Formats: sequence, structure tokens, C-alpha cells
Amino acid sequence: MTRPARIPIVQNGDPVLRAIAKELSPTEIASAKVKKVIRDMKTALKAQADGVAIAAPQIGASMRIFVVSGRIFDSRFHRGVGIPEGEEPTHDDVVFINPVITKLSKTKKWMHEGCLSVRPLWGEVQRSTNATITALDETGQSFTRGAGGLLAHIFQHETDHLNGILFIDNARNVAPGQVPEDIE
Ligand SMILES: [Zn+2]
Repeated sequence: MTRPARIPIVQNGDPVLRAIAKELSPTEIASAKVKKVIRDMKTALKAQADGVAIAAPQIGASMRIFVVSGRIFDSRFHRGVGIPEGEEPTHDDVVFINPVITKLSKTKKWMHEGCLSVRPLWGEVQRSTNATITALDETGQSFTRGAGGLLAHIFQHETDHLNGILFIDNARNVAPGQVPEDIE
């Protein structure tokens, strides 16, 4: 068995993280090129033990796609703990293509936040506690998903990535640190 090549995560300072990512047509979604980007995103995310989600620009592809790790849907997952080493999550990764947030709760909270592309910084960002998103799946089918807690937080962090925004743009108390929490 050959191990998949390690996919590097683009770090802050690379212009791809500041670009407005491109919306994908149905033909593009079905293309080998986009399928490979999604595969590479999943590989890159899986390699980050503390990662919960990743956006396409974070592997250098300026496309409106993000992937949420199946880890967070596993009952053994708790923020800061994760799935035991060497074990697979019970849930598949979930792919969001051309995602649009259609609802955000007025209730907001300062949430602790980090980013795979802004290591090793952490900070607090004010986020809505609930969010609804509409997106296309890998087959081009539209779906809508409402979320609270961590998933609502992820929806906001990842759609920001697709618009060239990093959490440090709106964060307070930004500092380097090894915080036992998951990052996006
Ligand atoms: Zn991020």
C-alpha cells in the first residue's frame, strides 16, 4: 500500500488565503480536478490531529469548498479531546460546495478560535451561536443544514475563508499558544 503524499497547509501571508474563492459550476463539480481537490482536502485535514474543518484555499485551491471532519460527529469527540489515536471516526467527512449562510442567530458569543493556516495563534471571535447553511454536496445536490455550537462556529469560520477573511482580522486576545482545543 502506498501512503498518500502529505498535503501542505498554506500559511498566513500567502495571497490565496486573501482571495475571494471561485464558485463552482455543475460541470466543474463533476470534474476530476475538483474531485482531486476534495480528496486532497480530506487527506490534509485527516493529517492534522486537532483539525475539525478545512477550506480549499488552505491547500492552495481558490474554490468555494470546505470540508468538516467526520470527527466532530463521532460521539467520542469532545472539544479538546478528539478520537483516540489510530481510530477512525464513525462518521464520514462532510463536503460543502458553494456554501451560503442563509441565517445567523442574533445571539453571539466570544468563541475561542484557532486556524490551521494561522498557527500558532489563538484568539476570541464573536460568532453567532446558531447558523443555517445551504450548499451543494459532492454530487451537486443542494442541501440545507442548521447547526448550533461547534458546527455553527465552523460554518462561520470556513465561509470567512472563502471570502479571504482570517479569524485574526476580527479577534481579540490573539496570542500564540498550545490550547487543548480543535482548530479550523
Ligand atoms: Zn481556518
